[in-house]
Amino acid sequence: MNPVEEALKIKEQIISWRRDFHMYPELKYEEERTSKIVEEHLREWGYRVKRVGTGIIADIGEGEKTIALRADMDALPIQEENDVPYKSRIPGKMHACGHDAHTAMLLGAAKIIAEHAEEFNGRVRLIFQPAEEGGNGAVKMIEGGALEGVDAIFGFHVWIDLPSGIIGIQEGPFMAGAGIFSARITGRGGHGASPHQTVDPIPISAETILALQTIVSRNVSPIETGVVSVTAVHAGTAFNVIPEEVEMKGTIRFFNPEIGDLIQRRIQEIFRGVAMAHGASYELSIEELVPPTINDAEMARFARRVAEKYGIRHGGVEPTMGAEDFAVYLQKVPGAFLTLGIRNEEKGIIHPHHHPRFDVDEDVLYLGTAMEVALALEFLT
Ligand SMILES: [Zn+2]
Ligand SMILES: [Zn+2]
Repeated sequence: MNPVEEALKIKEQIISWRRDFHMYPELKYEEERTSKIVEEHLREWGYRVKRVGTGIIADIGEGEKTIALRADMDALPIQEENDVPYKSRIPGKMHACGHDAHTAMLLGAAKIIAEHAEEFNGRVRLIFQPAEEGGNGAVKMIEGGALEGVDAIFGFHVWIDLPSGIIGIQEGPFMAGAGIFSARITGRGGHGASPHQTVDPIPISAETILALQTIVSRNVSPIETGVVSVTAVHAGTAFNVIPEEVEMKGTIRFFNPEIGDLIQRRIQEIFRGVAMAHGASYELSIEELVPPTINDAEMARFARRVAEKYGIRHGGVEPTMGAEDFAVYLQKVPGAFLTLGIRNEEKGIIHPHHHPRFDVDEDVLYLGTAMEVALALEFLT
């Protein structure tokens, strides 16, 4: 069996699945319709299906080794602005990250794998997960047993920063770890004309925000990378009133988990130190959302060899500070998160992920399917 030829045969089918999912997007943990369609196909093709909420774990074949392939199914709360026949039919919801394509590609792979089941010397597990967009659906799937008995895992993301049809493969850190923080600095309010009778939280918050800038510039080694962004500041209501408190929110990003720890520790020290210097109090909570996505070097090289063998075009892909919950699977099982280039300037497909005019070059989706089948075939020989 040649995975590329097989995928090419169902190219139009993959596109029509993608369009159907695109027209009826569902937000995180609401993937009822999508998962029902996926489940019906998988059962029809002979998969052993297990439900984890709106997620699906499906197995086929038996053997010593198991490879897992994962797709995410959720959409975003965005109003689509594309004028295409398959435009979202649901107001305020849109597949603006490409998870509709991921689901369709893996469904295509599922069909091919089932039709050629005797050629796979082991077990293939498909993971259709909910809630990648800020819902940590991967954690729910792992709790539901998605990684039990799994030797390697691969996931795909369509990628607007890569030319159409190129598989992007990166060894080591690929996407950032992410966290969020929220804080409240409390002083003592009063009359704007009598600051000496108050503890004004506004200059205290300004000092805190500036001090936070020194974490990346003065504490993180210049060889490493990190981001600390204060993204919301709220205080006060009137010209002549010094408010009681200032509320702040922000995000942190990092590739190296030790840098993540350093950033968190410094944020705490800065809030504590600045508040203490001015006699204010503060509350701070930092929540780590996802760890960095770190591709196993050997698995990335394996993926490259597989692409070579079947003549699938591939190349490197720049790491990004975006985050992805596939990272959680990679903390437990070796694997790699791969990308499929979908940027096509001639077709006007240039808008970034999460943009109301985001779209994918559908003509190359079969290559994602081909690569998924090829990875399974080669891993289970
Ligand atoms: Zn996204
Ligand atoms: Zn995504």
